[in-house]
Amino acid sequence: MKGGHLVLAMDQGTTSSRAIAFGRDGRPVAAAQQPFEQQFPTPGHVTHDPEAIWASQLEVARRVVTQVGGPERIAAIGIANQRETTLVWDRATGRPVADAIVWQSRITAPACERLRAEGHEPLFRQRTGLPLDAYFAGPKIAHILDADPTGRLRERAARGELAFGTVDTFLLWRLTGGRVHATDVSNASRTLLFDIHRLAWDQDLLDLVGVPVELLPEVRPTSDRFGETDPELFGRPIPITALAGDQQAATFGQACFEPGQAKNTYGTGAFLLLNTGTEPRHSANGLLTTVGWQLEPGGPVTYALEGSIFSAGSAVQWLRDGLRAFEDAADVESVASEVDDSGGVYLVPAFTGLGAPHWDPDARGTIVGVTRGTTIAHLARATLDAIAFQSADVLEAMVADAGEPLVELRVDGGAAANDLLLQLQADVLGVPVERPIVLETTALGAAYLAGLAVGYWRDLDDVASKWALDRRFEPAMSSESREARLRGWRRAGERSLRWASSDRGPTP
Ligand code: ADP
Repeated sequence: MKGGHLVLAMDQGTTSSRAIAFGRDGRPVAAAQQPFEQQFPTPGHVTHDPEAIWASQLEVARRVVTQVGGPERIAAIGIANQRETTLVWDRATGRPVADAIVWQSRITAPACERLRAEGHEPLFRQRTGLPLDAYFAGPKIAHILDADPTGRLRERAARGELAFGTVDTFLLWRLTGGRVHATDVSNASRTLLFDIHRLAWDQDLLDLVGVPVELLPEVRPTSDRFGETDPELFGRPIPITALAGDQQAATFGQACFEPGQAKNTYGTGAFLLLNTGTEPRHSANGLLTTVGWQLEPGGPVTYALEGSIFSAGSAVQWLRDGLRAFEDAADVESVASEVDDSGGVYLVPAFTGLGAPHWDPDARGTIVGVTRGTTIAHLARATLDAIAFQSADVLEAMVADAGEPLVELRVDGGAAANDLLLQLQADVLGVPVERPIVLETTALGAAYLAGLAVGYWRDLDDVASKWALDRRFEPAMSSESREARLRGWRRAGERSLRWASSDRGPTP
């Protein structure tokens, strides 16, 4: 394959590593993907073999480089990564001292609970924008140091022999042959150790969590000249010029550059991010405040509010696998289209509790409004409604926190293929929903961030001009109907709350 330069995105996800090469028009030219093993050592604990992360990511990158005709075609590499997943390795050998603790792991829940009981949560929230939850990286570092059977890791860390990194940092270290130990502000903002106002590691928080400062990487802008690949890896050095957490990269890939622009990724769960501009907005509704990106050293930082929905596409999976309602997840659209509406049925997919804005781990899945006339089509419709309603709840909380209206919602992820879902989403939001042609927004965002650092794309306007609409869904529901539907949804939601708590009902 011949032609001009391309930018290579590495998208290191939770279940697979992907590489995609993009051209100047922001369209993919070549792609490769490889899954790797998930490890569940104890209930609630999830780990990855760091060598499996590295080997799969290198393999797919090499395949794409070969497909496009060699390393001389690659102008720059950008890395987007599963966030919060934590590694510690030996600086001398590059060998990890333990398996990576994955973001999903609850192994650090007791440590977070202890800090909360000691009254530290307001400090963490104020400085990091995050609640004291086991998701985040900092306590995972302390866990790796303390769980080590040799009992020598803390001493070795204090001597500066070890390095911590999230997946971006680990890949950068390996790609540069151990020459660069750095992260970016978006990944740093997910550690509970980083002050998102001063953009610096915070010694008070490091002391509280028990993380030696000697472990930490340098924090750099999201788009920056981080280093070059070791010449042995691809045959010649390639500049690495972006690191970004996956959801931030997707927001960038959706060109949500203006305050009030938001994106929703509909996958197993759903991830919403709202650009709130250059000042962090703290949430009164249980949302996260996070760094979106920084494009140059000392330059302005774009912040975002983030909310996640635990069950979105997984509710469709439940219809398919649990109720055997249809064969293929995509069939939900035709089944739900057999009826004009859900016939008064509401389904609250609180399979694992509810996140923002309820934050009730004891909520459980609930179906209400069932009559003798209810069919599987009504349930399918109610399921799509629920994905749209949950997203609307989070967006409403975001808008309240941000104090600015939502302009439009840009969407991606597997379930964004569903036209009916996106129409329902526009209807319940009363705001247009836009689906771009390129749905690989995470990789695309990493590519844009990397390309900007080397002048492959000129500026944000240049990038924004590449965003190409596949389809726009205009709200078509009267505000009266919308209000009535939302009222019904809220009543259904109330019935799902606290279901699994022992004092309110039977424990499942
Ligand atoms: P993830 O990255 O979280 O694994 P994907 O973005 O690949 O998820 O999306 C897969 C999810 O989307 C699955 O939960 C599946 O049930 C759901 N899904 C896939 N296609 C459709 C569709 N046409 N309509 C609704 N949901 C869908």
